[in-house]
Amino acid sequence: MLPLVTAVAEFFVVIAVSLAAVLLNTIDARGFLASATVGFAVVYGGGFQWFVIVAVFFILGVAFTLYKYGYKRKLGGAQGKGGARNWPHILANGGVASMAAVWNFFFPGPVVTAVFLGAISAAAADTAATELGLLSHGMPRLITNPSKTVPPGTSGGVSPLGFVGAAFASLVIGALAIPLGILADPYLLIPVALVGGVFGAVVDSLIGAVVQRKGYCVVCLKPTEALKHCGERTRATKGSPFVENNAVNVLATVAGAAASTALLLAVYAV
Ligand SMILES: [Zn+2]
Repeated sequence: MLPLVTAVAEFFVVIAVSLAAVLLNTIDARGFLASATVGFAVVYGGGFQWFVIVAVFFILGVAFTLYKYGYKRKLGGAQGKGGARNWPHILANGGVASMAAVWNFFFPGPVVTAVFLGAISAAAADTAATELGLLSHGMPRLITNPSKTVPPGTSGGVSPLGFVGAAFASLVIGALAIPLGILADPYLLIPVALVGGVFGAVVDSLIGAVVQRKGYCVVCLKPTEALKHCGERTRATKGSPFVENNAVNVLATVAGAAASTALLLAVYAV
C-alpha cells in the first residue's frame, strides 16, 4: 500500500478502536482522547505491529477487570463505573510505551523495542495481578512484610494468584509479539516480556507498600487509597501525598522497561 493510504487507514483503525472502547463503556470521553493519543503515537512511531500489542493489552485489561466483576465489586476492590478507565489511568499505563514509540520514530532498533515491550508487559502484568489477586481465597500478604496480611485490593499486598496473573499476562504479550515480528530475534520476545512484566509488577507492589499515599475518607471514615471518596478529598495518613495509584503505575512501567532492556543488552553482550 502507498504510505499515505496506510497512514490514513491506521488513523481510522485507531479512531475505530478507541470509539469501540467508548461504546463498550470501558472509557469515557476524555479517556477516548487519551486512548487515541496513545494509539497515534504507537501506530505512527512503532508501526501497526506495536499498535496490535497495545490493543491486545487493552483487551486483556478489560477482560481481567470484568472477570467476576460482581464479586470484586462486593469486595470493594473493583474499578468503578463498570470497570471504565479514566484518562490519567490510560496515560499512566500507556505513557512510557508511547514515548518509546516516539523515540522509535527517530531511532528505531531493538533497544527501544525492548523498552516498549517491557512497559506494556509491566502494565498488563500489574492489571492482571491486581484483578486476579482480588479473587484470591487467602488474604494477600504485604510484600515488604509477608507475615502481615492485608485486605484484598490494598496496594503492596501480594498473592500467589496475583503472581500467576502477572506471569500469564506478560507471557501473552511476549507470545503475541513473535508472529508480529517486532524483534529480529523472536526467541528473545517471551523472556524479555516476562522479565519486564514480572519485575514491573513486583516494583508496583513495593512502591505500593512503601511510598504510595494511603488515607481515609472524611465522610464515611473508610480507609482508602483514592484521592477522593464520597465526593470529598480524602485525608492522607501514610506514604507520600504525591504518589497515588497512577504515579505508581508510571514508575512500574519504567521499571518493566528497564528490566526488559537490561535483559536484551545482557543477551547481546554475551
Ligand atoms: Zn467515603
